[in-house]
Parts: sequence; C-alpha cells; structure tokens
Amino acid sequence: MIIAVDGPSGSGKSSTARGVATRLGLRYLDTGAMYRAVTWAVLDSGIDLGDATAVAEIARNLDLTIATDPSAPTFAANGTDVTLLIREPRISENVSKIATNLDVRADLVRRQQDLIAAAQPGGGIVVEGRDIATVVAPEAELKVLLTADPEARMARRQAELAEGAVTAAELRDQIVRRDADDSTVAQFQVASDGAVEIDSTFMTLEQVVEAICQLAKE
Ligand code: C5P
Repeated sequence: MIIAVDGPSGSGKSSTARGVATRLGLRYLDTGAMYRAVTWAVLDSGIDLGDATAVAEIARNLDLTIATDPSAPTFAANGTDVTLLIREPRISENVSKIATNLDVRADLVRRQQDLIAAAQPGGGIVVEGRDIATVVAPEAELKVLLTADPEARMARRQAELAEGAVTAAELRDQIVRRDADDSTVAQFQVASDGAVEIDSTFMTLEQVVEAICQLAKE
C-alpha cells in the first residue's frame, strides 16, 4: 500500500503523514527532508547554489541514509546525522533553489521510488511531499492533497520554531515566498487524478489523521 500526502509548507502534512503511518503500521518517508539534506550538503560544500551542474553532482554523489520508521525518522548525509540540521532557517531559505534543479529532482525521485518499493513487503508506506501523487507514485492507492489557509500554516510554523527566533514578518516571507518559489516547479501545479483534498484549516491533527485512516480502509 502507498499513501501519498501532498501539500504546501505548514499544511501539517509531516505530523499528519507520520500519524497515519504510526496508526496503520506503515513506513514513513518525508521527501522534503531529502531536498533539505541535499541543500545541507550543497551549503556544506561551499559551492555556488546557482551552479546547476555542480549542485546536481553533489546530489548524485550524496550518501543519503534514511530511516523510514515513523517513530524515529532520521536522515544521515555523507555520514553526518542531519535530522536536526536540515530544519535550520538557512536550509528553509535555500531549499527551493535546490528543488528547482531538474537533475536533482530526477535523482531524488529515483531514490524515493526505491524506498517505496523496499517498504512494500512490510505492508507499505506513507509518503509526503509536493509531487508524490503526480510524479513519484502515481500508482498510490490513496492520494491526499492537504491544504490550509496561509494564516493557519504560518501559525503552525511559528509554533514549531523556538519562541522569538523569527519575527512574524520573516515567517510570512518564508511561507509566502517559498510558495512562490515552489510554484515554478511544474509538477506541483498539476492536480492528480483521484486525489482527495482535505482542508485542515479548522481541523485538529487527530481529526485529519482519522479522516485519512478512514479513507485508507475504504
Ligand atoms: O516539506 P518541506 O517544507 O520540508 O519541503 C522543503 C522543500 O523541499 C519545499 O519547499 C520544496 O521546495 C521541496 N520539495 C520538493 N518536492 C517534494 C518535497 C519537497 O521539491 N516532494
């Protein structure tokens, strides 16, 4: 079984996808974290983010180890545990530049498809991202498009960040600008066949997880 959960930044898809995987006993893959890990490696290497060829080469050579256990999803890049490092603001600020590199996308999509295939003997996987239903796993049994108003998404991001770490204006820039940057990736714009849209603006995490688990049982 494959459950695809797509949605913009702050739509609650990470907590939701993790909750669904835990509840249904499935593996869990956060594809955004993979783009973040490549961004970490590019920044760590010191190369110019605008050098598309060099960026693609970093991605291709990156040794990425991913744990798909929903109770402890961890990421190691070239032997360094980057699970926490990839959440830093400098990564969020630059990740869209890396994600619009088509060679990086091709490389990561292939790795994602391998991880999805590896999870099937164990019952399946919940995969969250932006292009899961359209590109990575169009064969998914359940495709969810998770949305939420920008204000609600911002409030959620703010709650995740250390108090006072960023101002409301900086946070708005991160969400609104990242939406704009991400919107240049063509696959994100295509509504996938058979996707169920869930607007989580006025729903609790538990309600969204419950709704998706119900859909998975149908
Ligand atoms: O989900 P998260 O906000 O951590 O994703 C970080 C970034 O990774 C997104 O802003 C987007 O640029 C990129 N991304 C992507 N394709 C995916 C998941 C994330 O391009 N499937």
